[in-house]
Amino acid sequence: MKEQVWKLVDEVKDFVVEARHLIHENPELGFREFGTTEFIKKELEAAGIEMVPLQIETGVLGIIKGTAEWKGPGKPPVAALRADIDALPIEETTGAPYSSKNKGIMHACGHDGHTAILLATAKVLQKIRGSFAGTVKLFFQPAEETLYGAEKMIQCGILDDPKVDFVAALHGGVEIPVGTVGVYPGPFMASGDIFKVKFVGKGTHGAYPHRGSDALAAAAQSVISLQMILAREIEANDRAVLSVCQIHGGSAFNIVPQEVEIAGTVRCFSPDVRQKISERLESICTHIAASYRCEAICDYTFGIPPVINDPAETDRVAAAAFEVLGEEKVIRLANPMMGSEDFAYFLQNVPRGTIFRLGVGREIPVSLHNPNFDFPDEALPLGVAVFTRYILDVLAPEGAKFQA
Ligand SMILES: [Zn+2]
Ligand SMILES: [Zn+2]
Repeated sequence: MKEQVWKLVDEVKDFVVEARHLIHENPELGFREFGTTEFIKKELEAAGIEMVPLQIETGVLGIIKGTAEWKGPGKPPVAALRADIDALPIEETTGAPYSSKNKGIMHACGHDGHTAILLATAKVLQKIRGSFAGTVKLFFQPAEETLYGAEKMIQCGILDDPKVDFVAALHGGVEIPVGTVGVYPGPFMASGDIFKVKFVGKGTHGAYPHRGSDALAAAAQSVISLQMILAREIEANDRAVLSVCQIHGGSAFNIVPQEVEIAGTVRCFSPDVRQKISERLESICTHIAASYRCEAICDYTFGIPPVINDPAETDRVAAAAFEVLGEEKVIRLANPMMGSEDFAYFLQNVPRGTIFRLGVGREIPVSLHNPNFDFPDEALPLGVAVFTRYILDVLAPEGAKFQA
């Protein structure tokens, strides 16, 4: 099986690199991926892959129906693979010959690689559709970076008719080297909430603070005290981060401002911890404000849920990677990540799913979202091989006979 998969991947190895360079050269921001969408559609059409129109302007849903007989129990399953297609508002500095042509926008998160891998996988699967049963759905998802794209696509009904049973995705991981795959069962990426607190006091002359009430002092005290939620109120084994990232207030050096606003983010993995932090945040800000004769108006938004990888599907991806890459190339990641990923919404709706990391770490590390980040071409065929082997395991569990 390993040799057969690599032979198929070999046939698309030039395509996957060319496709990535083209996507990299033409990056587009979330929900504005018009050129990228057109390119994906053109390539799927050329491969004879069916597409279902969506109620959104960007993003593509492709469908491949297996023609082999299903020998497993029940109905043949529906498996989905997802790639995010959007870029970031960053000015590229890689100097690559295929550098961004769109000023101030670049593929700094490797979504060019994800998209090219899914396109190449689609070509392989379409070619060998006689070797598996059931259905493969291809999700080319817009706007991952804004964390709104997955929900929008789900609202378009991509998980229904036929209902998706299994879903998988990959993301480049700079923490593991090129040539490897990283897996993590269970809670893998944190939830992402947003909070804003407006402190309202009574403005006054900087020389006569006692005639007003100091919203700035209340805000400053709160910025520090909020860290005590993590230190004193959350169990040490529960991972959580609270960061105040914005503070706005004041107009001159000699005016005590009437209003000061702070904003930030909370990242954690469990619903209980999330709830507790939101409640304590409000209580601490309100009481500190009161002690300064001010008022605190809190606005806490529960954002993206945590990514919870299904252990069985994570094992299945690990087994697929074992087979095509070798056991030593499959890394069981030691720790979950505090970042968020809107693939969480797919996992909420399809419990049998997982997202894994495809190693993109180089000797001189460059982080994701850095203007120098460039998805390594050498990692692309590995992604195609793992995706292909994974789909065959789901849709041809008795072992595929390649009838291309
Ligand atoms: Zn990103
Ligand atoms: Zn990303």
